[in-house]
Amino acid sequence: MTLKDKTTVTFYNGLTTIGGPMIEVAYNKSHVLFDLGEVYRPELNLPDESYQTLIKYQLIGDVPNFYDPAITGKQLDHTRWEHAAAYISHLHLDHSKALNLLAPEIPLYAGPITAALLPVLNQNGDFLLPATNHEKGYTRSIIPAKYKSPITVGDITLEVWPSDHDAYGATGLIIKTPDKLIAFTGDIRLHGYHPEWVKEYLTAVKNADLFIVEGTGISWPEHIGQEFTGPKNEDELTEKIVQLEQENPKRQITFNTYPTNVERLLKIVEESPRKVVLHAKRADLLKEALNKDYHYYYLPGEKKYESLDPKLEIAYEDLVKDNHEYLWQVVTNYGDLMKNGLYIHSNAEPLGDFDPAYKPFVDALERQNIEFVALRCSGHADDKELKEIIGLVQPRILCPVHTLHPELAENPYGDRILPKRGQTITL
Ligand SMILES: [Zn+2]
Repeated sequence: MTLKDKTTVTFYNGLTTIGGPMIEVAYNKSHVLFDLGEVYRPELNLPDESYQTLIKYQLIGDVPNFYDPAITGKQLDHTRWEHAAAYISHLHLDHSKALNLLAPEIPLYAGPITAALLPVLNQNGDFLLPATNHEKGYTRSIIPAKYKSPITVGDITLEVWPSDHDAYGATGLIIKTPDKLIAFTGDIRLHGYHPEWVKEYLTAVKNADLFIVEGTGISWPEHIGQEFTGPKNEDELTEKIVQLEQENPKRQITFNTYPTNVERLLKIVEESPRKVVLHAKRADLLKEALNKDYHYYYLPGEKKYESLDPKLEIAYEDLVKDNHEYLWQVVTNYGDLMKNGLYIHSNAEPLGDFDPAYKPFVDALERQNIEFVALRCSGHADDKELKEIIGLVQPRILCPVHTLHPELAENPYGDRILPKRGQTITL
């Protein structure tokens, strides 16, 4: 460290898109990168997901000195950068999908739940982008960070704090350089299971020199201020599922959720009056990553998982003719379901209108006479919550990212910056 050293921040991606933030903080010969996701744009119909294609369509950042030279063909400059590390805030693909592109020698940190779940989610090689020179299903090492404990990267110190989002184990990051305090929220909300964790994290970065906050919730100006009709928080969502079960004692009820939203699933299992039965793949994820056992079923002809206890298996034939005992997770073969049944779609795939697969999916269920109930709860702060979040931090500089409209976030407590893609700022 010399007197002229300054903290710089470079914004490589994910500024005016929902997802895919890639940001580098550097000081002297140390630098860190967060996150390592891919922007989700299914409408592009990409020819492939090669590194060159992802760079060309700006789905990942063109970040020097972090990617694996075996992929980019460019060596890392270890003379310029003596200390390097990377971090991912949570396991959603727009924050994690490109982690196998990171050079193998650069340590990658994440919260302990994220670190445990990702390798299991990717065991068939269909979750993350592939690493070079490894078999399908390989996930590079992810170091589980101890919450709130300093991680030293040369002149830079990182701390990983528990937060709340609709991805189990989501975290926020605190970055300390010799002269500046920076916070990166990852994805964040105040209406999930742990608003107190979020507030504790935000309080820890009060008056941060730079507060990088995700602004998904202000991406649609026409919706700002609108009263929301669905469940207001995660607890209301589970209550609604219980209510649907109570109101329909003699009706087949099925559901699905997104695999990474483990906490919601655990809550449904805990609260449901009916016995909850998961598809074997989901049950295996919970067993392998968290060592938790649940009732499960196999579809006809499906491969067996060694991890699963045979005593907990429920026969598929029993599920398809059941109308009172089970609440079960349906993932395919919708034609097997009973007519006049009820299906609860809780942020499962296909996720929504923006996905071309969504409408055909809903229409097909309707043709079968199955009632489709969408029960959603956002993983992101809305406009009002975002103001509250910024108010808790009162940053010197606010930098909204991960939103279609960063200019709609204001900072009454200091400056606001709206960096361009690839821009470096000196703090
Ligand atoms: Zn997310």
